[in-house]
Amino acid sequence: AKKAGGACIVTASEDFRRDLEFRRRLQRDILHASQRNEFDLAFQPIVDVGELRAHSFEALLRWQHPELGRIPPDLFIPLAEESGAIIEIGRFVLDRALSIAANWPAQLTVSVNVSALQLSEKSFVRMVRETLKRNGVPASRLILEITETALIKNANAGKILDDLRRLGVGIALDDFGTGYASMGYLQQYRFDKIKIDKSFVSTMNEEGKSAAIVRAICALAKEISATVVAEGIETEELLSLVGAAGCDFGQGYLFARPMSALQTALFIEKNGWG
Ligand code: C2E
Ligand code: CA
Ligand code: CA
Ligand code: CA
Repeated sequence: AKKAGGACIVTASEDFRRDLEFRRRLQRDILHASQRNEFDLAFQPIVDVGELRAHSFEALLRWQHPELGRIPPDLFIPLAEESGAIIEIGRFVLDRALSIAANWPAQLTVSVNVSALQLSEKSFVRMVRETLKRNGVPASRLILEITETALIKNANAGKILDDLRRLGVGIALDDFGTGYASMGYLQQYRFDKIKIDKSFVSTMNEEGKSAAIVRAICALAKEISATVVAEGIETEELLSLVGAAGCDFGQGYLFARPMSALQTALFIEKNGWG
């Protein structure tokens, strides 16, 4: 028994070492991914649950590794944050997202994710302003999605959010409910949108408290004049539940999976904006 236990530990640490090496490799490869044109953006509609019309599209980063294939952002974004590569990647994402959104009908906004490290970059607000200008997109058509983690890690967040708002950019609090200080952030900062994490939305049809939590978040959002986006809507049933709970917008596979820029243009045309 002792022998078997020992072997088990060896295997576990072997797995751990391999995993660590794999992460290090990705971390190195990310540094060249941009120059080698391995990054691309996908867009997913954020739909008005009343009119069932797209109101915004969220830009989601895709990395096609030459040998390993598609690497999920949940894996590589944290690695890029750790190494600092996310600063440059974030600039690329914003520039590309705006250059594509520039071709959409002017009623449509584009939602771009911002990581904690980007927010702590001194020239972030200026970079946003210049990127909008370069692409000829008014600030009112841009929504920046920021997570609670990004706010925790930044003592200067209040000033940055104020500066962004003064610029005319919309601010969404992403993954709401998954952090530990959500209420504190609502008290401290102003948000135009609150995005309820899919872990709450996808369980609304089950017994339990998710539906009550989503209703409460919607009521709270009204009080502070924010609109609510429910993430992870995969079925008609969930769509009617989030509507009944008071959510303004929904996002999820029911409407569309994240799509290429070209598919997005066709989606916009087909759905009557074009
Ligand atoms: P997120 O910001 O919460 O983005 C929503 C994620 O949910 C996306 O995963 C999207 O594809 C997925 N999703 C949308 N609808 C559904 C649905 O109905 N069911 C399910 N199960 N999932 C759905 P994705 O594209 O894999 O991105 C994962 C995360 O990576 C994002 O979560 C975001 O935190 C991060 N990320 C993606 N692109 C960027 C980026 O350009 N910059 C930064 N900083 N983070 C990014
Ligand atoms: Ca997001
Ligand atoms: Ca989210
Ligand atoms: Ca998320």
